[in-house]
Amino acid sequence: MSSTHPDRRTFAIISHPDAGKTTLTEKLLVAGGAIHMAGEVKARGAARRARSDWMKIEQQRGISVTSSVMTFEHAGLVFNLLDTPGHEDFSEDTYRTLTAVDSAVMVIDAAKGIEPQTLKLFEVCRLRSVPILTFVNKVDREGLPPFELLDEVADRLALDVCPMNWPAGMGGTFEGIYDLVDPALMLPDKADASRMYAGERLPVAGLDDPALAAKLSPGALAHLKEETELASACYAPFDVAAYRNGDLTPVYFGSALKEFGVEDLLNALAAHAPGPQPQPAEPAPVDPDDAAVTGFVFKVQANMNPAHRDRIAFMRLCSGKFERGMRLTQGGTGKAIAISRPMLFLAQDRDMAEEAWPGDIIGIPNHGTLRVGDTLSERSDVTITGLPNFAPEILRRVALVDPTKTKQLRKALDDMAEEGIIQVFYPEIGANMIVGVVGQLQLDVLISRLEAEYKVEAKLEASPWDTARWIASDDPVALKAFQADHRGAAATDRDGAPVFMAKDAWEVGYVTQRHPAIRFTATKERR
Ligand code: GDP
Repeated sequence: MSSTHPDRRTFAIISHPDAGKTTLTEKLLVAGGAIHMAGEVKARGAARRARSDWMKIEQQRGISVTSSVMTFEHAGLVFNLLDTPGHEDFSEDTYRTLTAVDSAVMVIDAAKGIEPQTLKLFEVCRLRSVPILTFVNKVDREGLPPFELLDEVADRLALDVCPMNWPAGMGGTFEGIYDLVDPALMLPDKADASRMYAGERLPVAGLDDPALAAKLSPGALAHLKEETELASACYAPFDVAAYRNGDLTPVYFGSALKEFGVEDLLNALAAHAPGPQPQPAEPAPVDPDDAAVTGFVFKVQANMNPAHRDRIAFMRLCSGKFERGMRLTQGGTGKAIAISRPMLFLAQDRDMAEEAWPGDIIGIPNHGTLRVGDTLSERSDVTITGLPNFAPEILRRVALVDPTKTKQLRKALDDMAEEGIIQVFYPEIGANMIVGVVGQLQLDVLISRLEAEYKVEAKLEASPWDTARWIASDDPVALKAFQADHRGAAATDRDGAPVFMAKDAWEVGYVTQRHPAIRFTATKERR
């Protein structure tokens, strides 16, 4: 990319609830200087306009967009941190956010190791070989031994691990963190020892430097030497190519709460994390160096206020220099859309508030014309691919309490499908719509929004199916025959693509084996 703008680091944090994602996010924002006092309006001119537009939208329409993308600058780079919702349950939203990042930070609780949600999110990252930096959090508390944590990451995620620093003790015995790459000891703040917050960073010549002996207790130092020696024999040396390829994860021990290791993590993102990557697309991948502006919508957020139908589409810019007012073509429809009020999340720098570069996220207010997966481009011949729909794990039949509200129900389900909250299937037989979700929480959201926003009272009933697969075949006759033979389980999704609904994964396997001409896919790429 041209050298007229700082490079981007667009990333997300993946973790299990309570591991410390929120705390780490806050500390990264503070370290990057992005947290301002509430109500502070420093910017002038265009930037002030941009910012106040955006605040007005938030206030009037109740759309909370600020936390979805957080932008800050550090080490001459622009960081875009994309929030992945921190619920116990997922929505496809969470998955799709991960298609808009170039790298991820995986936060693990030192006392718990890899937890179920960490694993699920990791698997999504692996699908696209997203490079991962690991942050083992809460070393200020009792945790599992570092070796056990490292081996768990290596074994369960099948990744090479490379410790970049090492805790001198944990919990009650915690005395600091030793930087293995750029030898130094990070010590608690002496002035406020009771709080144990990170204070001094003491550069040393190595583990035999007498300065260490002066700062650490003899037991802690001996233990640190022993462990780090063993670690250097056990684990692969850091290899930036292997990291960027998604084969190796550098591991940082730290404490988000006590601010140990946060700065190191940020520096690692700056030094090692990849900038904007080429995006899979038809007819050819979109390179960040391409001159034409191209991006894709990875998330649509509706209004919290039922009186409005506005929504914000979040577009990840993949190539070109975006400027306010630009007209972009919506892939599929061929319609040109003027992006006259883009929300750029670069509120700090007024020069940049009018433009955006590959890796940046642009919020586009609209009334439902933009959908998740849409390509927006100055070109008319490009379609970003690789934004999957995921096979639902729960299917429910939607039954109206008041049957005269069919139209409203359909509109509501379409809206929510567009936001990626649910999927809607229209069965071949019968008039009831089927909704599919990946997690239970999505069903709760569905019911409460139906009532509050759309004034539709509906019940979710058990359906004979629990999962669904998109079906396709190179042989249209075979596909037709399959659909005819399985009419009771045949449906279409809201794009009209054929779907086979199944009782469970076992049935999917059984049917798949018996129909080799048909492809059953658990993800459907939006084209
Ligand atoms: P999230 O659910 O992943 O966003 O986790 P939070 O950031 O909300 O943290 C969950 C809990 O862990 C909160 O009570 C935090 O104060 C606490 N916590 C986060 N980081 C640390 C840490 O480094 N040390 C300790 N002792 N507690 C932490």
